[in-house]
Amino acid sequence: MPPEAKAMRTDAKVRDEPIAGPFTRPWRFIKSVPALDFLPDMGPIEFALAGRSNVGKSSLINALVRHNGLARTSNTPGRTQELNYFETDWQPKFYLVDMPGYGFAKAPKEKVEAWTALVKDYLRGRQTLARVLVLVDARHGLKPVDDEIMSLLDGAGVTFQIVLTKADKVTPKALAYVIAATEAALKRHPAAFPEVLSTSSDTGLGLEALRTYITQVVEERG
Ligand code: GDP
Repeated sequence: MPPEAKAMRTDAKVRDEPIAGPFTRPWRFIKSVPALDFLPDMGPIEFALAGRSNVGKSSLINALVRHNGLARTSNTPGRTQELNYFETDWQPKFYLVDMPGYGFAKAPKEKVEAWTALVKDYLRGRQTLARVLVLVDARHGLKPVDDEIMSLLDGAGVTFQIVLTKADKVTPKALAYVIAATEAALKRHPAAFPEVLSTSSDTGLGLEALRTYITQVVEERG
């Protein structure tokens, strides 16, 4: 085998080696929370995934924890209507929380209002909420409804990280543009982490960076 081929094989092996941590463990769904009364007892820190309907929240959770089908994914926007809690066997213990997507206009008005109230009350009042990952579709950039959630998080003093999703669906030039526009807009949001993370659940882009981000917060705060 030529030396370059041998080197490539070694590189590939190194890259495939999973970094030990909470995302190499099996993850499980614990419960769906339809209203604040049903939240688990406070203790472990929580990471909530927020974003417009169909932004790719469920796909991102499945890709992060390497478990297809753990969080439900669907082509039908608005199917996740409750706060869904996920955990793994890792110390310090922490939860990932999939939230109802906001901005879904086709559902009945009362339903949309109920989900919106649940999301807002949870984001404002949950003391163990360590970070919110605000997911934004890389094709669309920030929308007014994202701005509303970001302002709510500023007011509540909850740090958030913008995560661009579906980065595989845009050209590198368009991605650079949306990153710059988003980071410029984040200057108006004191609770925002200043840099955005670009991800693709399809290609795996940015997933290891996001796992590292979460793991570092768990180690600091847990
Ligand atoms: P949710 O409503 O935010 O949970 O969104 P889903 O995870 O159900 O995803 C909505 C749609 O976008 C589905 O058809 C997914 O297959 C698709 N999708 C999600 N993430 C990606 C991605 O990173 N790349 C591509 N190309 N499609 C994605």
